[in-house]
Amino acid sequence: MNESDSEMVAGWYEQKNWQKTENIGQADEIVINTCSVRESAENRVFGLVHNLAKDLTKGKHPKIILTGCMLRYSLRWLRENLPEVDEFKKINEFSGGLKRKIRESKTLAYIPIMEGCNNFCSYCVVPYARGREVSRPLEEIICETKELVDRGYTQVMLLGQNVNSYGKDFSKKGARKTNNFANLLCQIHKLAKIKKISFLTSNPWDLDEEIIEAMSLPKIDRYLHLPVQSGSDIILKKMNRRYSAKEYLDLIKKIREKITDIQIGTDIIVGFPGETNKEFKETLALCKKVNFIKAYVAMYSPRMQTAAYKMKNDVSPTEKRKRWKILDNLINKKQRR
Ligand code: SF4
Repeated sequence: MNESDSEMVAGWYEQKNWQKTENIGQADEIVINTCSVRESAENRVFGLVHNLAKDLTKGKHPKIILTGCMLRYSLRWLRENLPEVDEFKKINEFSGGLKRKIRESKTLAYIPIMEGCNNFCSYCVVPYARGREVSRPLEEIICETKELVDRGYTQVMLLGQNVNSYGKDFSKKGARKTNNFANLLCQIHKLAKIKKISFLTSNPWDLDEEIIEAMSLPKIDRYLHLPVQSGSDIILKKMNRRYSAKEYLDLIKKIREKITDIQIGTDIIVGFPGETNKEFKETLALCKKVNFIKAYVAMYSPRMQTAAYKMKNDVSPTEKRKRWKILDNLINKKQRR
């Protein structure tokens, strides 16, 4: 998603006839597109901005602009903690660049289909950083995809924090109810020159039978990323995820029955507040049952504004690392062997 946003920012500058440079000494403006999902990502931004500002004292001083997820903080907080930044701009202030996106790849095109999330998982900053779900009109997405096909793109990746609920906000605006994610997949699938359609990210509780049916179309990617986060019902509840471990497993079974060659990857958080060894073992057991092809395993870190921030961060860093390693060995190492 952030990569796609950076392409949009580059498009925004191109519209103004600005040119991209790899040489910081030549830049008039430097835009830092931030990620706030983990504490470590934010720490890297602090380091980058401080080092950049130090280096820039030697030559001319380009304007430093900060955008992306860290704009969830108040301007006052940002100004106090990042005094070297000249301007803070919300990512949607660059949305004009969508029409002139500078695409890094010549075959695979990222297409944002919606922005924001309504789910408020208790550890996640996205609803604060990106706001509530807003879907792009279906016609606009199809039109963009056709233009990309004309420019030679054969693969598209549809992006959103919660792609399965694409279009659910339309009913409020009186648009057709059929403009949902399953229909969007089918419409893009009809474009003859498109060879492969992927999408990110899905949520287990929104992935209904209609979507599974659409996913079985031949040009839809046979890799599905379906974050589980934990295999413990107690922890899932604390995370405000709306499924139990059994419901997740039932869903996987249903998907595999319909699409026999599908491969499934996931996201998992270890060391969430209250996760004892027993709960971790439940996650381990679920992973063994599903046999994920890959997993992004994260050690829990509290994020300001979220509900989990108020919970006791009671799993030690050593234990988090231990659990991380066990899962990484179980899922990712087997792929590297
Ligand atoms: S569904 Fe995803 S983006 Fe939305 S709150 Fe949960 S983890 Fe964050």
